[in-house]
Amino acid sequence: MQDIHSPCGSGQGEGELVEILTMTEFELIRTFFVRQAVTRSDVAAGIGDDAALLIPPPGQQLAVTSDLMVSGVHFLSDTDPFSLGHKALAVNLSDLAAMGAEPAWFMLNLVLPAADGRWLEAFCRGMFRLARDHGVQLVGGDTSRGPLAIAIEAHGFVPEGKALRRSGAQPGDRLYVTGTLGDAAMALRHRLGGIRLPEGDLSALAQRLDRPTPRVKEGILLRDIASSAIDISDGLVADLGHILELSRVGARIDIAKIPLSPECRRHVREAGWDTVLATGDDYELCFSVPEKNVAAMEKLQFDSGFSRIGVIEPEAGLRIQDEAGKPYRTQHAGHDHFNEPDNSPDTNKHSAKTSKGVI
Ligand code: ADP
Ligand code: MG
Repeated sequence: MQDIHSPCGSGQGEGELVEILTMTEFELIRTFFVRQAVTRSDVAAGIGDDAALLIPPPGQQLAVTSDLMVSGVHFLSDTDPFSLGHKALAVNLSDLAAMGAEPAWFMLNLVLPAADGRWLEAFCRGMFRLARDHGVQLVGGDTSRGPLAIAIEAHGFVPEGKALRRSGAQPGDRLYVTGTLGDAAMALRHRLGGIRLPEGDLSALAQRLDRPTPRVKEGILLRDIASSAIDISDGLVADLGHILELSRVGARIDIAKIPLSPECRRHVREAGWDTVLATGDDYELCFSVPEKNVAAMEKLQFDSGFSRIGVIEPEAGLRIQDEAGKPYRTQHAGHDHFNEPDNSPDTNKHSAKTSKGVI
């Protein structure tokens, strides 16, 4: 592939016209994945051998996670590749953040319909920009032809015994979330035709859907503070539900305390609170903090900000109080791939699921 520039990671080639090319798997890997801005000293061998050789720091546990994104299921097939590259890595870093782990390495498994240089160039720019921001290195993967799918596996470190788990919440612990909720869901409802947002609000909200910010620093700061944590990918009600189930507790949350961006707040009455509470793609952290740690918690400096939304209670179930102080019932409980009323491509990740009595 004589004429193709290596646009990834090295920062060169941004905006260059890369022609659609047919290249061999080896050429594709060499062109797009080998050169990167991040080269870590704990990578003894990265891309190029049969397996990567990695050197985990002594005394740390390895946190390993993977997320699969399938065209027509997790994203529309015409989604811009820069956003896909960003999001494929971001959702994995978000899982590491929810464990309190510090990201280090990742693997990329790609199924591509064609070796489309222009698509790959933009995909790599999105992915490697986020990788550089977090100092994570791509150390290997696999590539095949087929219907578009992207799977990333990310690895991070957490000192032994310090990982945040879903199972540690205790009655009396305060419940918090980072950032704001509902932005991504609001943009998605617009794209699926459920509501119409004005252009200015849409662009801010769509940014949150397409380029989520993994709360990595926040997760690390919470290691000695939080009793449990999860990242919100399927909606607050569903994901908090996992904490409650695994911790064998319940909770009460207050809708008036749910943090909303100004753009989301302007449309929440029209869209309904289920958009915020039971849709997903927020990639914020939801976590519990024992009362003894609340003072330390409230002193933490989070880029995302944080909000106290409720409290853990001994009785099972989630009780949601609306703005008038009345019980609120969600119609949908969040996303579940294998329990969807409609399996049509492009919308089923986000289509509604009937509530199974979560309140
Ligand atoms: P093998 O046949 O042993 O699986 P491959 O030819 O698939 O080896 O891959 C060669 C090298 O390129 C390996 O080090 C592999 O980890 C790396 N690699 C393949 N695909 C990707 C990818 N999508 N991203 C990063 N590295 C990749
Ligand atoms: Mg291979």
